[in-house]
Amino acid sequence: MADETTTTAAPENSAQSTERRPARPTPGGAGRESAGRKYFRRKKVCKFCVEKIEAINYKDVRLLAQFVAESGKIVPRRLTGVCTPHQRRLSSAIKQARNIALLPFGGRIS
Ligand SMILES: [Zn+2]
Repeated sequence: MADETTTTAAPENSAQSTERRPARPTPGGAGRESAGRKYFRRKKVCKFCVEKIEAINYKDVRLLAQFVAESGKIVPRRLTGVCTPHQRRLSSAIKQARNIALLPFGGRIS
């Protein structure tokens, strides 16, 4: 009854206790990301200048809706990249569209 159970339990010295100090280069308070909106690092050009839209029609809701945030606000120029004269026409067009209920004044009714 000599059960030769060769238990080769190799005592591997698993040295997993290596000192890991992840030096994260996180400067204080730099986690500033625009919520929800992914930031594409793309050169901002005015959409209206590119497509050569001179007059922004207030009835063109699909166009205007691109520059209206979900909350119903007009997206500022620094986010969309629209140039100043076009932004001015755009904002007035959005306001006109709001008055005839093509666009919302406020997004959600809370
Ligand atoms: Zn423009």
